[in-house]
Amino acid sequence: MPTTYDVIVVGVGGVGAPAVWHLARRGLRVLGLERFAVPHAMGGSHGNSRQTKIAPYIGSPYEGIILRAYELWREIVAESAQPEIMVTTGFLDIHRAPPAAAYATDTGRFERLDHAELRCRYPQFQLAEYCWAAWDPAGALLRPELAVTSFVRTAMLRGGVVEGSTEVKGWRASAGGVEVETTRGRFSAGKLVLCAGPWTGKLLADLGIRMTANRMSFGWVWPRRNVAAFGPSSMPCWCIDDEPGIYYGFPMMTDVPGFKIGLHWYGDEVDPDAFDRRPDARDEALIRTGLRTFMPDANGPLLGIRTCLYDHTPDDVPIIDLHPEHDNVVICGPLCGAGFKFVPAYAEAAVDLAADGHTRLPIDFLRIGRLLAAGRP
Ligand SMILES: Cc1cc2nc3c(=O)[nH]c(=O)nc-3n(C[C@H](O)[C@H](O)[C@H](O)COP(=O)(O)OP(=O)(O)OC[C@H]3O[C@@H](n4cnc5c(N)ncnc54)[C@H](O)[C@@H]3O)c2cc1C
Repeated sequence: MPTTYDVIVVGVGGVGAPAVWHLARRGLRVLGLERFAVPHAMGGSHGNSRQTKIAPYIGSPYEGIILRAYELWREIVAESAQPEIMVTTGFLDIHRAPPAAAYATDTGRFERLDHAELRCRYPQFQLAEYCWAAWDPAGALLRPELAVTSFVRTAMLRGGVVEGSTEVKGWRASAGGVEVETTRGRFSAGKLVLCAGPWTGKLLADLGIRMTANRMSFGWVWPRRNVAAFGPSSMPCWCIDDEPGIYYGFPMMTDVPGFKIGLHWYGDEVDPDAFDRRPDARDEALIRTGLRTFMPDANGPLLGIRTCLYDHTPDDVPIIDLHPEHDNVVICGPLCGAGFKFVPAYAEAAVDLAADGHTRLPIDFLRIGRLLAAGRP
């Protein structure tokens, strides 16, 4: 007889790991199924750092989600006793004038810096005179591998079960529950939560919604001078939106040598099971362009480049909702390339939907109906 669980979570990555944690905290019998090891570097949640911030989301549909996510990040830090999961660095959001919509009104969450002020406080950046910035003191660096590890570890200490190296090959839902076919046997449960990230489109092909996986890269370099200017006491997490693109980066930390920088763009659409993950000359050219333009002092020896996957929906807004045909199946993804900061809150909403059928979190804008062809339920 196969063991029966209350909830099976498919995919124990960025959002699946906190989903398993929430379910275990509720005292439910949860099984997380992950095709790779936990954690791994094949999806969208590796590379040692992710940014989070509050100010850009105030007044947007994401406001309630980001505020709840901050509370939950603090809870996992406390429960796992891992303060390095979330390190407050501040966040510097550099734009060309005029102010981006998010900063058009003073929400009390950010400080506006003009070009002269920016030059004075952050001389390591080389910026056009028309640039200005919003400084968000709540900005922080999140560590994705440590976060996934900590969510899984604390969930398992509470009785949750996670099976790695277990690929889900198919699933079936009926009024009586769900059945999942894997490379290591069949499992059944009352409910299913799909947290498959860039693979979501493969598990939900019959919905007719275009969900893509996109190859991205980022790299680490050693500054050629003024190394201290790129450390955490001089540099926050940052993003620059100007020609030649949207670049982002992090202060140098001690767990990986070097200064990390990446280009935020749509990426090349790929099959997540069959693409070349090896860094190439174009990956280096992308980061060198950003370094040459915006921080020439950091444009030193290359320490490494890694590839990673973004995922997208047609409107680039995530999906968190019940499956349109099965009210015991919850879809939690794709998260659309900027999701890590929200994962504990997205996971909470998904678990609420699975356990209770509803959530108090403001997720109406994430519902799937907006993407379904007219005529579908
Ligand atoms: C380069 C890069 C930079 C980013 N920067 C930021 C940032 O600064 N701030 C931010 O907030 N967000 C950022 N993001 C986005 C964020 O990291 C992702 O949105 C988020 O981590 C994705 O989490 P996920 O759980 O949806 O996907 P994943 O972490 O990829 O998890 C999906 C999991 O499902 C598993 N899986 C899939 N199919 C199956 C199956 N059939 N059977 C079993 N398991 C399966 C996969 O193996 C994987 O572990 C960035 C992303 C990238 C790639």
